[in-house]
Amino acid sequence: MSERYVAALDQGTTSTRCILFDRHGRMVSIAQREHRQHFPHPGWVEHDAAEIWSVVRKVVPQALADADVDPSQVIALGVTNQRETVVLWDRRTGQPVHRAVVWQDTRTVGLLEEIAREMSAEEIRRRTGLPLFSYFSGPKLRWIFERHPHLYERAVRGELMFGTMDSWIVWNLTGGVEGGRHVTDVTNASRTMLMDLDTLDWDDDLLDVMRVPRAVLPEIRSTMGTVGTTVAPVRGLPVAAVIGDQQASLFGQTAFEAGDAKCTFGTGSFLLLNTGETPIRSRHELITTVAHRAEGQPAVYALEGSTAVAGGLVQWCRDNLGLIRTPAEIETLAATVSDNGGCYVVPAFSGLFAPYWDPGAQGTIVGLTSYVSKGHIARAVLEATAWQTRDLVEAMNADAGVPARSLLVDGGMTGDNLLMQAVADALGIPVVRPIMAETVARGAAYAAGLTVGYWADRNVLKGQWQRAAEWHPQVAEDRRELEYRHWQHAVALAREWGRRTA
Ligand code: ADP
Repeated sequence: MSERYVAALDQGTTSTRCILFDRHGRMVSIAQREHRQHFPHPGWVEHDAAEIWSVVRKVVPQALADADVDPSQVIALGVTNQRETVVLWDRRTGQPVHRAVVWQDTRTVGLLEEIAREMSAEEIRRRTGLPLFSYFSGPKLRWIFERHPHLYERAVRGELMFGTMDSWIVWNLTGGVEGGRHVTDVTNASRTMLMDLDTLDWDDDLLDVMRVPRAVLPEIRSTMGTVGTTVAPVRGLPVAAVIGDQQASLFGQTAFEAGDAKCTFGTGSFLLLNTGETPIRSRHELITTVAHRAEGQPAVYALEGSTAVAGGLVQWCRDNLGLIRTPAEIETLAATVSDNGGCYVVPAFSGLFAPYWDPGAQGTIVGLTSYVSKGHIARAVLEATAWQTRDLVEAMNADAGVPARSLLVDGGMTGDNLLMQAVADALGIPVVRPIMAETVARGAAYAAGLTVGYWADRNVLKGQWQRAAEWHPQVAEDRRELEYRHWQHAVALAREWGRRTA
């Protein structure tokens, strides 16, 4: 019998990848394409969902063709995706009726106070595990419906469908206007600010507050479980798992047990701690979220610390400043100097996420003197990610009651040695990266493969985890703490500046 594979479709913020994995967890092929980012106003970030679907149509067949694999050899497909991003489309034509409003978008900042008057931020957090912030889907939906009353009327009449990116893709994969499945999974639904974290169902009061008619909502399903079979762009692949990208990388790191944690460094950075079957409410400004759910089993929860801008700052240095031509060059440039020259960069492009949740904060560079070179700026750019990680780890340690002893990492930025050393230095604990790259896609593949019995159990997957690299702290404690205080001061300035210009 010919070899069989599991496919993962990873629809990320900047690009979409399709990756085939074999039984040993090896990547057999990878096809990847970027899509356009639209920044129509300061703070606005949009995607064209139709363009994203056309990218999916290209990468799936390409990944199969590159490995000379027939669709019949793909035993399961797992879908993973950028979370929170809102897609609204016409049920009859299958076309988006509004640009997708991306998770980083801050247009709803002015709406948050109004929302809080209808339901307090504490009550919203109690029900959803989420701080009232522009990051999540609910306020974005309310914004669209308030700005476009005709869309609201059409939504009430049942003519439109809402989904995060997973819903849009699964609906299209499974037939679109010809009977596509309108579904989402609990991990994605837990980011909408519309789902109750205990009942794992849409919450009527929250739907009222966010002005969301029930008719637009997808069905919430478990993470693992067969949703349907693909009709496009390739026929016959069983869609066996759907999972938000950060929960997927937690799964891909085989962080299955309570107490397991990981931090992903991509466009943003995301620290997740598996807390088992109980949703733990954070006392230190972290998010409570669903980690995954197998069909017929209780949900597994996580605490999450998210920052909006990590690798995104490196992209900004490339695209907006022309400081570098490729992301990897930031390390070369930073290595031309031995320290940051007194310079700190706070990348508050979407306000500041955890643990500050300050929508008004604006980015800042402090400590400029005639001594500072572009090398120092490059170093400060990388250190910004390290210090933001320190902020998240401090909050996680305080919530968990026991300090982390090491940090497991993955994501596009972890190829950067200087950054990984800076993270170890900022935290004062070792940083560990596994051999396996692409943990987001891997997590989706693992979830899909487990659903169909491609892998017997989770222990088999744990056996595939291998350490690739480890970085140990090299700076003295007093210097680490002094620099952390400088960082915190720079953050305070970014927040104050936001208040001055508000
Ligand atoms: P996503 O899944 O969010 O699109 P990835 O995990 O693919 O992100 O990581 C891409 C991000 O990592 C980009 O923002 C890019 O700027 C950054 N990046 C990639 N390589 C490096 C590097 N060598 N040093 C620093 N940043 C990098």
